[in-house]
This record gives sequence, C-alpha cells and structure tokens, in this order.
Amino acid sequence: MAQDIAAPSRTHGILKKYGLSAKKSLGQNFLTDLNILRKIAEAAELGPEDGALEIGPGLGALTEHLARKAGRVAAVELDDRLLPVLRETLAPYPQVRVIHGDVLKLDLARLWEECFADCHSVSVAANLPYYITTPILMKLIESGLPFRHIVVMIQKEVADRIAARPGSKDYGSLSVAIQFYCETETVTRVPPSVFVPQPNVESAVIRLTRRAEPAVRVSDEAWFFRVVQASFAQRRKTLANNLLGVFMPKGERARLEALLAEVGIAPGRRGETLSMDEFARLSERLKAEAE
Ligand code: SAM
Repeated sequence: MAQDIAAPSRTHGILKKYGLSAKKSLGQNFLTDLNILRKIAEAAELGPEDGALEIGPGLGALTEHLARKAGRVAAVELDDRLLPVLRETLAPYPQVRVIHGDVLKLDLARLWEECFADCHSVSVAANLPYYITTPILMKLIESGLPFRHIVVMIQKEVADRIAARPGSKDYGSLSVAIQFYCETETVTRVPPSVFVPQPNVESAVIRLTRRAEPAVRVSDEAWFFRVVQASFAQRRKTLANNLLGVFMPKGERARLEALLAEVGIAPGRRGETLSMDEFARLSERLKAEAE
C-alpha cells in the first residue's frame, strides 16, 4: 500500500519527481505530520453523507485524509503546477474534485450547488495560505453559507487574535467580526518543524462553528461593524477620540460623551475594553442619533 502523501519521504519524493520547489508567494508550506492531519479531519466531523471544502490542497496531504471520511471533497488550488501532481496523488479518491482557481474570486454559492447539493452537511478544512488568512475567513463567514465547521490551520498569532477576549492586547476588530458569527475553539498548536519548508511562525488549528444567531442582536450589521472598526482605529486613543469626527462632528465632544454615558460606557475607555454587548448598545445608540 502507498505511503500517505504527507509522509515526509513521500512528500520529498513528489517534490523531486515533479521538480517542484515551494512558492513562498503562495504561502506554500506542506504539512508532513499525520497526527495533525488526522486531528484536522476529525475536528471537521465528516461522514459519508457529508462534504468537505478544502482551500489549497497543495500535494493532497490533507485532501486524502478528508476523502477517507467525507462523501465529497472539493479542493480549490491556485497553483497550476500542482494540478498534474494532484491528478496522480488523488487518483485513488474518485470523490475528490480539484478546482483550479483563486478562492478569493470563487463563487462559493455556485460551488456549493455544483459539489454539495446532495450533502447532509458541509465543513471547510484547510491548511490556509497565511498571506490571505483573514480575507479567506471573512469570505467564508460572510458568504452566509451554512458550513457546519470551519477547521483551519493559521498562524498562532492570528488564532490568538480571533479568540481574544475584551481587555486583552490581542482583542480587536477581527475578534469581534469572527466571534459575532461563530464559536471559536483551538484544536491544537503546531510547531514549524512539521512543514516542508518550515514557516517562520508558530501555527494553530482552530475550529469555528457558526452560531444559530449572531452573538448579539443589532438592527444593521454593516453599521455595527463600522462602529467596531472606528473604535479600534487607533488603539492608543480613547473610544471618544476614535469616534469623534467619524460618527459625531469634532466640535460635539460633549454630546458624544453624554451619548456614551447613556449606554453605560465611560468615554475615557478604550475600544479594546468593550464587550460585544457594549458594542451592540453603542452601535444602536449611534444609529438612532444618525437617523
Ligand atoms: N494543503 C496542503 C498541505 O497541508 O500540505 C498545502 C497547504 S499550503 C499552506 C497552502 C496552499 O494554498 C498551497 O497549495 C497554495 O498553492 C494554495 N493557495 C495559495 N493561494 C491560494 C488561493 N488564492 N486560492 C487557492 N489556493 C491557494
């Protein structure tokens, strides 16, 4: 029986056979740890009735693990040099469809229709290209598609920011954006040594699970996120200073401070101390003022 694609000797053998070197510009770090691949596939909770969407299959290391569990796997790869490789490595898995393209330009709803229409549930599982971690996550979440789980390997530093709580140095607009829609969990931490080539950063696998309802109720989500963005615009500034000139004319500090006091937020606080509930109250009050 063939070795797993991710076994270090097979990975090196494939790279050599095709004369490939990893492209840094595409975030190519190939995973060679079978345990971590198993953990990613398990966290996605896939069964024969389910579908898996993988972003960046590379040589097929994770794809193979997903195909052993899921009924359908769609894997989107940008690098055309890898297409003949994937044809060979994934030949034993007819349930896998490799799609050549840029995930950021892909029509996800159409892909879902074409690949997963008859699936019971669909999860994302991927070792993401780190240079576009945030845009990919936001695209998946904002698509509104009912992914069961999103299990992704990302830089540990970004994982910390996603899971951060109010008051911590890592808490920011990314924490609020993701936690608004999803529960977050850390599956495992991953050292650089298990990749070929090794990245310069620590990694972590996280699992995002969409909430049935957003974490807080707001009347206008786009407005809510504008308030969040503005509140974190300059971390050293107070909340009032960040909001002045954006949601209230510069000369109206007293009116802004009264409005903050009305929703129970001291104007001298910084954005990074506000809970999701407080952001929601603030956003609703600023909206009422603007109308
Ligand atoms: N899944 C493989 C593994 O775990 O060994 C490779 C992971 S590697 C970190 C990221 C993969 O994403 C590479 O194969 C890279 O070519 C691909 N990629 C980079 N940018 C992409 C994009 N915009 N759309 C789709 N795939 C992309």
